[in-house]
Amino acid sequence: MPQPHFLLVSYPVQSHINPSLQLAKHLIRIGVHVTFTTSISAGRRMTKVPAAQGLSFASFSDGYDDGLKPGDDKNHYSSEFRRRGKEALSELIIASENEGKPITCIVYSLLLSWAAGVAREHHIPSAVLWTQPATVFDIFYFYFNGYEAAINDQVVESKSKCLIKLPGLPPLATRDLPSFITAANTDHLILSMFREQLEVLAGESNAKILVNTIDALEPEALKAIEKFELVGIGPLIPTDGSLRADLFQCNSNDYLRWLDSKPKSSVVYVSFGSVAVLAREQVEEIARALLASGRPFLWVVRNQTARGEEEKEEDKLSCREELEQVGMIVPWCWQVEVLSHPSLGCFVTHCGWNSTLESLVAGVPVVAVPQFADQATNAKLVEDVWGTGVRVSANEEGVVERGEIVRCLDSVMDDGENGGEVRRNAEKWKEIARETTMEGGSLYVNLKAFVADVAQGCR
Ligand code: UDP
Repeated sequence: MPQPHFLLVSYPVQSHINPSLQLAKHLIRIGVHVTFTTSISAGRRMTKVPAAQGLSFASFSDGYDDGLKPGDDKNHYSSEFRRRGKEALSELIIASENEGKPITCIVYSLLLSWAAGVAREHHIPSAVLWTQPATVFDIFYFYFNGYEAAINDQVVESKSKCLIKLPGLPPLATRDLPSFITAANTDHLILSMFREQLEVLAGESNAKILVNTIDALEPEALKAIEKFELVGIGPLIPTDGSLRADLFQCNSNDYLRWLDSKPKSSVVYVSFGSVAVLAREQVEEIARALLASGRPFLWVVRNQTARGEEEKEEDKLSCREELEQVGMIVPWCWQVEVLSHPSLGCFVTHCGWNSTLESLVAGVPVVAVPQFADQATNAKLVEDVWGTGVRVSANEEGVVERGEIVRCLDSVMDDGENGGEVRRNAEKWKEIARETTMEGGSLYVNLKAFVADVAQGCR
């Protein structure tokens, strides 16, 4: 039988590129040739991607090769990305066929559902790589399938703290739901992309949803929807450093030596991922909390936005010199390496799904400060389901005050009852995650079954 050849299509953002590349790595390990594609602008910013056997790169123009600029029309970008992406995928499929290495499956990252249409046109099977937890897949599914009114009612009533019960999920308050279905000023473009994604999957007879999660983390959520087969193929994390692709740069890794100089489990690592831009007031509260806490800290303060333009986040730091006497501030770091450093004691995170999984794999307790998208749901899982961290409460203006941040830091890092339990839970999940990635663990078992299934369908 010819070697399977998968085309991986990644949305050009850090949180899709990271798990997509790790998926490529695992697929190659089980004998699949992978062609990885994303936009030219992301391709240019991807640093340190080493050549790997069995992997080809092919970036395509989305019409914004120098990256999106402030004020660019997101709707226009989205439709150009789709139009040009469809053409590029078709060309790649035809070229591969002509070279005698036909594409046998397309795996596209969340929200690029048009890629499934291209696959269908060329009679190739496709699957989505769901880059958020299964729980969030379920929430969107139920929202679009019968629960929209109930959820909207709950959002209106949210002050009464009523909970909504969706099949297979823990009871959820408004503050636990993805922002795209609760925020008054929600991003309608993204919400419509979720809707389309779910509709495309519903239209397929044997839809495959590859979820970057661990079976044991969300056993019920993975099975909550009878109609769909959700397969846990995570954690997709570059633990060994291979196939890393950072869209942001840090010119030095001095932070590693700095971490080396700190006592075991003492450092607070603070990062809000690659997209969130915090308000000046929130940055100030975090800075004051870190100073008040007195613990050494490593804080990622980006000097670029996810779209590549300059960002003045740094200017929001009023007390940089004071901060640098206790901690270290960097524009970017290799987060997975930082999290696995023995000096790490706690991760103050926005709870992006990658960051959440990375903290679980490293066994690092979390102070969850969710901002938007799926982050609130991830924070709920961290605090109430896995017990690996605590979630902050914001004041009425939506700002998390310094006292609250210090309280949460103390609660996970001190030797009290809560801290002990959180750290025991974090250790437990670290061990489960480790087993998952071993030969015979759910990552490889599920991925091999998926590849075999695709091969079967192609015969
Ligand atoms: N990340 C990193 N270095 C940093 C900050 C973030 O390598 O200084 C990586 C992090 O490891 C994760 C990704 O960027 O894999 C961020 O994805 P996530 O889903 O956590 O959040 P998003 O950026 O989408 O908000």
